[in-house]
Amino acid sequence: MIEVSGVTRYYGSGRVRHTALRDVTLSIGEGEFVSIVGTSGSGKTTLLNVLGGLDRGWEGSVKVDGREMRALSDRELSALRNTSLGFVFQHFNLLDHLTCQENVTLSSFFGSPVKDPAARADELLRKVGLGDKITARPSELSGGQKQRVAIARALFPGPKLILCDEPTGSLDYKTGMQILELFQDLNATEGITVIVVTHEDHVAKVARRRIRLEDGVVVEDEREG
Ligand code: ADP
Ligand code: MG
Repeated sequence: MIEVSGVTRYYGSGRVRHTALRDVTLSIGEGEFVSIVGTSGSGKTTLLNVLGGLDRGWEGSVKVDGREMRALSDRELSALRNTSLGFVFQHFNLLDHLTCQENVTLSSFFGSPVKDPAARADELLRKVGLGDKITARPSELSGGQKQRVAIARALFPGPKLILCDEPTGSLDYKTGMQILELFQDLNATEGITVIVVTHEDHVAKVARRRIRLEDGVVVEDEREG
């Protein structure tokens, strides 16, 4: 599903040039649950942004379902992000003047094939355990509930791949583990490929495969049952 080959990402130039990713090569298959782990500054967010088409300033090759990302126009890239990928972030990134339902349907305003956005949002909110929060505002919710809304929003277009950047980073241990269980469930029951970026080993361990970054280099790629 994803083939990364020789990807290097520099920030800055000349004497202040910093190498955030260095010759990264890896592939991730459909249905995998992968964590990308490493200390702060190791390049995790940079790599996730490359995979999600949020960054274009890299060198190398990234293919998603056989399509070279570099060859996509900005418009094609936005369409890909809007229909095939889901993003989940540490700080939830919900809009507080909208209800939970409206937050979930937001991408439909930018063109989406979903027929009945409100009905789909309600179904997804029920799926993540928030059937009673459809008309609530994010400010009325706990951190874990906010992240569930963000996950429902990510699922809205029916993506095959969800990219998560420190999704448990603002949550306590127990709530974080419950969010990871939700990802495990989505992965197991719907075959959605999940990639979770984290600096915490106990979060990384939840994934069946762990890719470790140090200074922008993949230093470990470990699979287990
Ligand atoms: P992580 O997510 O693992 O903490 P990042 O991918 O955010 O790491 O950053 C990797 C390195 O690239 C860090 O040294 C960081 O300071 C640098 N970096 C990230 N984004 C930028 C940017 N927009 N401009 C300059 N340097 C950046
Ligand atoms: Mg980061």
